[in-house]
Amino acid sequence: MQNYDLYIDGAFVKAAAGRTFESRNPYTGEVWAQIAHADATDVDRAVTAAKAAFPGWSGLKPHLRARQLLKLADLVDEKAEFLAEIEVRDNGKLYAEMVAQCRYLSSWYRYYAGLADKIEGTVPPVDKANMFAFTRSEPYGVVALITAWNSPLLMLAFKLAPSLAAGNTAVVKPSEFTSASTLEFMKIVEKAGIPKGVVNVVAGFGADVGSALVAHPDVAKISFTGSDTSGQKVYETAAKGIKRVALELGGKSPNIVFEDADMESAVMGAISGIFAATGQTCIAGSRLLLQRSIHDKFVERLVEVARAAKIGDPMHPDTNISPVANEPQYNKILQYIDIAKKEGARCVLGGGPHEGAGHNRSLFVQPTIFTGVRNDMRIAQEEVFGPVLGVIPFDDEQHALTIANDIRFGLAAGVWTRDVGRMFRMSEKLHVGTVWVNTYRTVSFHAPFGGTKRSGVGRENGIEGMKEFLQTKTVYIATETAPVNPFIIR
Ligand code: NAD
Repeated sequence: MQNYDLYIDGAFVKAAAGRTFESRNPYTGEVWAQIAHADATDVDRAVTAAKAAFPGWSGLKPHLRARQLLKLADLVDEKAEFLAEIEVRDNGKLYAEMVAQCRYLSSWYRYYAGLADKIEGTVPPVDKANMFAFTRSEPYGVVALITAWNSPLLMLAFKLAPSLAAGNTAVVKPSEFTSASTLEFMKIVEKAGIPKGVVNVVAGFGADVGSALVAHPDVAKISFTGSDTSGQKVYETAAKGIKRVALELGGKSPNIVFEDADMESAVMGAISGIFAATGQTCIAGSRLLLQRSIHDKFVERLVEVARAAKIGDPMHPDTNISPVANEPQYNKILQYIDIAKKEGARCVLGGGPHEGAGHNRSLFVQPTIFTGVRNDMRIAQEEVFGPVLGVIPFDDEQHALTIANDIRFGLAAGVWTRDVGRMFRMSEKLHVGTVWVNTYRTVSFHAPFGGTKRSGVGRENGIEGMKEFLQTKTVYIATETAPVNPFIIR
């Protein structure tokens, strides 16, 4: 059994109330770690430490902050395999995916280290006589970084790397299902020589620790990844303090296949869209829109490939589908499968729990495909966050667009076609934050990522991701000090 303490002001500490909570391995069903359970007192200690560290960290020349982030990146690379194993133990995702993800983490810290000293102000040519104006980009102060359980360290990298590069100090709240990797990561932060108080971690549940962090008066900005319902609560609490918010929320992304597409690539894209990570990704292509002329043939091949997927131990290199990450999520997925059946969708693959691939308490769900789905069904409109695909037929481009955009979410979309004009038309008219053409789920530290509509507010990654953690100050300097009439605003 592993024990993880909170990380506050450069030290690993017990929760003030001495409480802990369990972390369970979704493959073995065993409790493998006890995590210190923070409360409002710990949140206050963490925010106070971050506030105290802010003048020093923001006052450090950006190229020196960058050096520390580069050191952190090197140390993260050394620990990638170790961190990946912890992620698998906590969220049950494939080791093959998590190790690639953990080896990729350092790219965020290097990229934002590179940007740290390239943020420049402007000199607006103001219309006033004898007046010089310039702008400065300044950090907010203490930022709250709240992450979900599906890719804990990747989401942390999206937030922590730019916020630190910009000169903010941070309090991190990882998901209650996957706190261990973030706390383990703090050992690397410490080893990299990041000064105490610059990064702090409070573990616990959203309703107590997360909301106390969002509401804390000394938190200036919140960067949140999670469901749209929790995101809405965060937004509402933040509004009371007029705090800045970036929200990376859920999705119900359309993956649209036209009759002229390369069929085999599109089938693999559809599979990867919904069954990679057992469907537990915000960008899952959970609505597969198929042009009617290819519908039956495509579904036949799709079912054939999905049926062959190996379900089993996430650590095994041959496994394709690993368990669902936690019990509430497992129950939610099974409920949605029932809902789809009751709504009249036709289950052509799977449709229930999967037994016999692991331990008694393994949380496996069969890869599930429904055809005959209408876009107004709940299975088409609500995020399942699991290996459940709804297939919706369409007639032509306009029809596909109408279906694709008729949804409250707007995170991403896939388009499969060989028609170059259509690639441009579709990517312009889809109401989403990311469009993939003849590919699915590419994400890079170089390119902005985020949602429209209920999928979120703001962008992560790329230069926009850095700007999320900076605010603009304008400075006017009078170049002559002649007295003026003080009662007239100039
Ligand atoms: P969740 O909303 O239940 O929890 C996310 C985080 O928010 C956790 O750390 C949780 O403790 C915290 N939290 C919950 N309620 C809170 C509150 N009222 N105040 C402050 N913090 C609170 O989401 P989840 O189940 O952990 O993750 C799955 C969801 O995350 C899915 O909807 C998925 O689409 C979304 N997600 C989005 C992205 C993205 O980048 N857009 C990436 C991954 C996951």
